[in-house]
Amino acid sequence: MILNFFYRHNAYNHVFFDLDRTLWDFEQNMRDALRDIFAEHKLDSIFPDSTTFIESFDRNNHYLWDKYLKGELSKDVLRYKRFEVTLEQFGCKNTPLAKALGEEYLAIMPLKTALVPGTHELLEYLSERYILHIISNGFQEVQLPKLQRSNIDHFFRWVITSEYSGYHKPDKRAFGFALSKANARKNESIMIGDDLDADILGAKNFGIDQIFYNPKKILHNQRITYEVRDLKEIIRVL
Ligand SMILES: [Mg+2]
Repeated sequence: MILNFFYRHNAYNHVFFDLDRTLWDFEQNMRDALRDIFAEHKLDSIFPDSTTFIESFDRNNHYLWDKYLKGELSKDVLRYKRFEVTLEQFGCKNTPLAKALGEEYLAIMPLKTALVPGTHELLEYLSERYILHIISNGFQEVQLPKLQRSNIDHFFRWVITSEYSGYHKPDKRAFGFALSKANARKNESIMIGDDLDADILGAKNFGIDQIFYNPKKILHNQRITYEVRDLKEIIRVL
């Protein structure tokens, strides 16, 4: 291995990545999975079209996922509740169907492989210079297949989900757990993510540097170590 062959202009050794919406194209993959489910279960008998189904699910999922992160909803309930509520809004009260859709969604979605543009180039570049890890709030059993299917799993030494550590970002303990697993010091670590609160302010409060991947140019007045619109810009920073 020629890990130290390349010149680096900083003191970082460990780069921690968020997964969903930072590397793995969550929006695209979610839509693909929901379209499969819509066709498979002939949901056009309930919803006017697949777009309406997807938009309604997306809204309900955001709302319920938030409750899950706050500990107000268990994972088991979240899995089917997001479909149950979506069906109900279109006049279909059917918990068994919601449960079937919930299971199928978690089985299909991690098999989708759309990545955020520039993911492979960035990981190729960074993996020759740094040790890479994932810190994710996603479910353990879906995050690993996502990485494997999209063929980026080999880039990462540690994949720490909140189910594994017991803490959701932005909780400082989610970062503390990951750094201790990676045997990384704070001053040699940097966090890259798309979520200002969970990834960036979480990392900042914990005491490590941050790169905010902000493709939608969300406005804010936070002091962040680096901010990029495009993953490839990270190559100029690290
Ligand atoms: Mg994310």
